Amino acid sequence: MYKTHTCGELGEKDIGREVALAGWVDRLRDLGGVTFLDLRDRFGIVQLVSNPETSPEVHQKLIPVRMEWVIQAVGIVRKRPNGMANPDLATGEIEVELTQVKILNPAKTPPFLINQEEDVEEQIRLKYRYLDLRRPRMRDNIILRHRLVSFIRNYLDQKDFLEIETPILFKTTPEGARDYIVPSRVHPGEFYALPQSPQQLKQMLMVAGMERYFQIARCFRDEDQRGDRQPEFTQLDIEMSFVEREDVMDLLEGLYTELVKAVTPQKKVLETPWPRFTYQQTLERFGKDNPDIRFGMELHNISEIAPESGFRVFSDTVKGGGTVCGINAKGLGDYSRKQIDELTEYVKVYGAGGLAYLALTSDGEERSSFAKFLTEKAKIQIQKLMDAESGDLLLFVADTPAIVFESLGRLREKLRDLLGLVDQDTLGFCWVIDFPLVNYNKDEERWDPSHHLFTSPMMEDIENLDKDPSLVRGQQYDLVLNGYEIGGGSIRIHDAELQEKIFSLIGLDMEVARERFGHMLQAFSYGTPPHGGIASGIDRLCMILANEPNIREVIAFPKNQSARDLMGNAPSPVEPEQMKELHIKLDLD
Ligand code: ASP
Repeated sequence: MYKTHTCGELGEKDIGREVALAGWVDRLRDLGGVTFLDLRDRFGIVQLVSNPETSPEVHQKLIPVRMEWVIQAVGIVRKRPNGMANPDLATGEIEVELTQVKILNPAKTPPFLINQEEDVEEQIRLKYRYLDLRRPRMRDNIILRHRLVSFIRNYLDQKDFLEIETPILFKTTPEGARDYIVPSRVHPGEFYALPQSPQQLKQMLMVAGMERYFQIARCFRDEDQRGDRQPEFTQLDIEMSFVEREDVMDLLEGLYTELVKAVTPQKKVLETPWPRFTYQQTLERFGKDNPDIRFGMELHNISEIAPESGFRVFSDTVKGGGTVCGINAKGLGDYSRKQIDELTEYVKVYGAGGLAYLALTSDGEERSSFAKFLTEKAKIQIQKLMDAESGDLLLFVADTPAIVFESLGRLREKLRDLLGLVDQDTLGFCWVIDFPLVNYNKDEERWDPSHHLFTSPMMEDIENLDKDPSLVRGQQYDLVLNGYEIGGGSIRIHDAELQEKIFSLIGLDMEVARERFGHMLQAFSYGTPPHGGIASGIDRLCMILANEPNIREVIAFPKNQSARDLMGNAPSPVEPEQMKELHIKLDLD
């Protein structure tokens, strides 16, 4: 037996006991001839002591040992001498006096320290991920992830859900990204597509009468790697039969509320029941449809004041169909010109031409890029609307609604970070509903689904499908947490005729639709229950619960930001022989 105990569990209750331990050497010190060695395993750290006088053989064996060597140790647990206890360590009251030691495996000097939270370049961490995972931060994240997933499994099992695996080699399951495709050797010239989500398969399971399905599903999307994305990621995928929108939302709300209590009890949920916003409300109040609702600083629309304001940029924008909005950055009235310029540069990245400002300094002065053009009346109206007082900084963008919302929405969250406006341990869950079913794609001159092609329109809006599709809302819901979309789903179309109508609305030729989704249309003709579901990103949720800045920190073996696995060096070329078998010729020009 390698170990009778783990390194994290020994304490005063074990004093006098002989124990066997095994793990990695975390730290070594030689004090006046006596060797102190911290032994680490997944469960903790314990101090081992070797005294050359009482056990010369052990001492001899430890001479070549270095950090990260794997050893097995046998010894007697004893209380640490007076004043030597280490309150930072769970096992800090005791130590193990060694009687035997066995070297199980030596180790090269690692490229970075395992026993210290030093900043290591991410490239190096990813290349040596197996060492990075030994560090406490990553180990704790992986443990948290496991707890989260196992809580979900148990909870859903108790609610009568079945966990069902769906194929990875399948046919295109579009979610708005490019497919990863896999050539078939046995069917030359034909390809599987990796699922962007198990969407169609889970709907098929509803036709199959499974009623309540879930899966911790791997999804594959070949997207440009901007932002915090991974080519493969994990989602909690759910589908339910005989449900309405409320049923699916209630299930998720119950699940995550209980999950937070069980897995991260130090976190507080901001508001229960979770607030709900329509898509339009989130844009108007927060500038984005995945808002962080933990702090104020909401957008104010001053488009009604703009035409008579005296300031041409504002009035012309509104005349041209645009919008003028502002935010009140409370307490920043004394910001310097340079600081305001930095904020201006920030919004320009999101398409804004500039940032008009009106600073009300704390000693009652006014500094502004445009106030001299404003009529007195407009100035008063704006300040009143924005609840402005001395010490405030009012910031405005005038542009198309899309640019105004995006730039001020981002600016709002930038100010949140700059000013430390939120508490990490607060969880601001909310729902966003009433999305438009389709959005007009000017370049392609067609309607694109705002969720996916299987989302049902709101029944009361159906007649507008023929008149003005822009007015049709989808039975869709997005789940948002602290400024991130952590889930999305919808009630589905379960009627083959309506599904065909949506295909044609989004410009999908019926021939093509039949070729791609014929299996669904056919299945739908054999008795389909009304159904709906949701998928929620496990990586994102775990990232937020672990207070991490990106999802790579909660994935054991993530790819880097250019979709490469630096440890295994994937992707990589394959042997010509293999290409031949697959009937593939490369054309790299
Ligand atoms: N398949 C959708 C997605 O991956 C989720 C859903 O509608 O259930 O976003």
